[in-house]
Amino acid sequence: MKIMKFGGTSVGKPERMHHIAGLVTKETEPTIVVLSALSGTTNALVEIGDNIAKGDRNAAKQSIDKLEAHYHDFISRLVKKPASVEKAKAVVSEHFEFLNIILRISFSEALSKDILAQGELLSTKLFSIYLDEQGIDHMLLPALEFMSIDTNDEPQIGSIKVRLTQLLKEHANKKLFITQGYICRNARGEVDNLKRGGSDYTASLVAAAIQASVCEIWTDIDGMHNNDPRIVNKTVPVEQLSFDEAAELAYFGAKILHPASIWPAQMYKIPVKLLNTMQPEAKGTLIVEEAGSVGVKAVAAKDNIIAIRIKSSRMLLAYGFLRKIFEVFEKYRTPVDMVTTSEVAVSLTIDSTSNLKNIIKELEPFGTIEIDENQTIISVVGNEISQTSRIVKKLFESIVNIPIRMVSYGGSPHNISLLVPAEFKTQILQQLNKGMFGL
Ligand code: ADP
Ligand code: ASP
Ligand code: MG
Repeated sequence: MKIMKFGGTSVGKPERMHHIAGLVTKETEPTIVVLSALSGTTNALVEIGDNIAKGDRNAAKQSIDKLEAHYHDFISRLVKKPASVEKAKAVVSEHFEFLNIILRISFSEALSKDILAQGELLSTKLFSIYLDEQGIDHMLLPALEFMSIDTNDEPQIGSIKVRLTQLLKEHANKKLFITQGYICRNARGEVDNLKRGGSDYTASLVAAAIQASVCEIWTDIDGMHNNDPRIVNKTVPVEQLSFDEAAELAYFGAKILHPASIWPAQMYKIPVKLLNTMQPEAKGTLIVEEAGSVGVKAVAAKDNIIAIRIKSSRMLLAYGFLRKIFEVFEKYRTPVDMVTTSEVAVSLTIDSTSNLKNIIKELEPFGTIEIDENQTIISVVGNEISQTSRIVKKLFESIVNIPIRMVSYGGSPHNISLLVPAEFKTQILQQLNKGMFGL
């Protein structure tokens, strides 16, 4: 069995949905198709939820109506037969009625998750109606019946496996399944999600749960590029990445993959392919255990980083100091990305300000605290790069003019991370593109 995940732009226009129906029916192997919401929908739903939370119901109502009009236009071009048109209209009405009901009741965190779930529910149901119209046999698998997260928001791969296997067994005669990316149930049984971009994570979790032969991530670009194509003009696709390299790139800002989407595939040894819906014949990127080649593969940037420096002479010759510092971050469930130390100071980075005040307050007894907000982590990722002196030399030669706040080198053999003020992000990505890739 294989997994094919299509992102927002791949389903964002009726003709794209027609096109992906062609791609999924070409398959001879039984397939689970994971769909995102149509592009723009989740952003609109976030805005609707924010406005309801703020009490601005008029603004929320306006956004709901605008989005509904978009869906009516979408279905008018998606399906033709009167019976399909009626079905599609009924689906759109059902979900927008739901949003209009939420508008009238008092807001809660759980309701905001219900709002966000509407995008994937709509896209999968509409795709299913189109497949029916085309006489393509398939089965809609409700993700809310098998995707679950625990009290720490971690996916419960064991129970996902049990429930999904049972569902597939009940429909053993089917060869094509459609399910929602992104959405799941939390430990309280409420509708929840795997965070923005989470459909990739769904695809990889489903692939792991059923031991799929491959997890294909179909998107709007022909694979993982060597640099961020939104920022740098000339970028090229990378043919092969190891799971470790891909995980570093996803975590450090390569938007093509959700940050957590690699571990399930890696753990269950499922090859991942990044493919272009608009150019299905392009090779894309293969992600497997082996790196394939030595050297730098790609560069990524992670924004909105906060650097914290704790200076204290008490650190001199002391032990247990770092543990006490890290306990503060653990207490506030704030991941630390980069760490550098000297004998009298330690610098580290976090990517969320949500508990910054509390963290600073608890760190203050340890020494002087300095905070630099608005930083960017630049990660240079590849195979055996930190042991290859030629690569390290080239890397630093190409960015001599950029002020570097921190360097993380040697933590892993396939990543060198640099912390720079955010205003240097574009410049450093461009210089690395030239210096490291000759582009
Ligand atoms: P989808 O909606 O299919 O999930 P995303 O927008 O989440 O697609 O991811 C694809 C986008 O990721 C590309 O259009 C590209 O702009 C962006 N991106 C950022 N960094 C990279 C990279 N290194 N390689 C490829 N794409 C990247
Ligand atoms: N629709 C969700 C989002 O926009 C999930 C996804 O597209 O992967 O974040
Ligand atoms: Mg995405």
